[in-house]
Amino acid sequence: MSQISVAVLGATGSVGQRFISLLDGHPMFKVVALAASDRSAGQTYGKACRWILSEPMPAWARDMVVVPCSPESVDAKIVFSALPADLAKDLEPQFAKAGMAVCSNASSYRRETDVPLLLPEINADHIGLIRGQRLARGWSGCILTNPNCTSTGLAVALKALQDAFGLKKAFVVSLQALSGAGYPGIPSLDVIDNVIPYIGGEEEKVEWESRKMLGKLGADGVALADIKFSAHTNRVAVIDGHIVCASVELGQDVSPEAAIAVLREYQAPAASRDLPFAPKPVIVVRDEADRPQPRLDRMTGKGMTTVVGRVRPDPLFHLKFVVLSHNTIRGAAGGSIYNAELLVAENLL
Ligand code: NAP
Repeated sequence: MSQISVAVLGATGSVGQRFISLLDGHPMFKVVALAASDRSAGQTYGKACRWILSEPMPAWARDMVVVPCSPESVDAKIVFSALPADLAKDLEPQFAKAGMAVCSNASSYRRETDVPLLLPEINADHIGLIRGQRLARGWSGCILTNPNCTSTGLAVALKALQDAFGLKKAFVVSLQALSGAGYPGIPSLDVIDNVIPYIGGEEEKVEWESRKMLGKLGADGVALADIKFSAHTNRVAVIDGHIVCASVELGQDVSPEAAIAVLREYQAPAASRDLPFAPKPVIVVRDEADRPQPRLDRMTGKGMTTVVGRVRPDPLFHLKFVVLSHNTIRGAAGGSIYNAELLVAENLL
């Protein structure tokens, strides 16, 4: 099978490096360009990038020369964007206009009514928004997005419960890893021996993006799910893996055993089930009283599986539980690659 050319924008950052690592040996995609800021452009990737992953930098990436983030410098069918949101706002449409499919990690276009906010294991059908987006904007390319990394595992677990029992309210508290703040991110003296109870804009993202992802696609776009969310978001001194502690009100009272069975049985829609980056399984439920834990469980299903634990009755609502998701794999680069695979499978490239 001939491979599809892809580029990574923001290739030197926390998410960009994950893209390089995860695209190494990908069966459908071949990386043809790595782009970053003027600081890095013109240097080899090996020189420009301070590699922070435990996996070695792939040899093919080391010698590639980093190019500027402009459509003139990139000749690829798909562009994976790991750019800061303010830059993505201006740059991503330029790539879409130039005919490239932009799979974005940035928040800039997630709220647009014609832009899919995708977790293919729960809302693969939302990719249908791309057709209207192309017509309305006159682009031969497109923009599709994945959600903020905190909503990712949470929305997957909530989707399984929503389908089975209905879902009315969710009160959630996050413990978010440092890699979620990019590289070099938060100064060590601010975060070691500490918890930072504020992540700018994050609570609003969790409360709104979850409703779009759990919403229904209709003729007028996605109707936001009628669910009330309240989120507290915190930064903790963990390298990778976001934990979310959730209390939920369902459409009916259910036992923890019934909820666990539903979570374990949850299957991705047929359209996204067998793609190379599909999480296998979608959800793992741990039985131990003290799991999931980021260090022990974040690589479950190669970092794409949502891990749930501590499912128990909630004195305020119906159920409470803990969700773990790898923020730079399922919550960012891996999720974006999964979105691109769906785009190809649906003949929308
Ligand atoms: P990061 O580590 O700060 O990386 C930023 C990247 O953007 C670097 O490659 C940087 O290149 C490049 N860049 C900065 N200024 C630029 C400019 N003027 N022109 C072109 N490129 C420029 O950030 P990150 O954590 O990877 O996040 C990237 C995006 O993904 C953000 O929108 C973030 O919100 C989103 N996101 C992150 C996560 C996560 O877990 N980290 C999860 C979901 C979504 P240089 O090295 O050359 O400066």
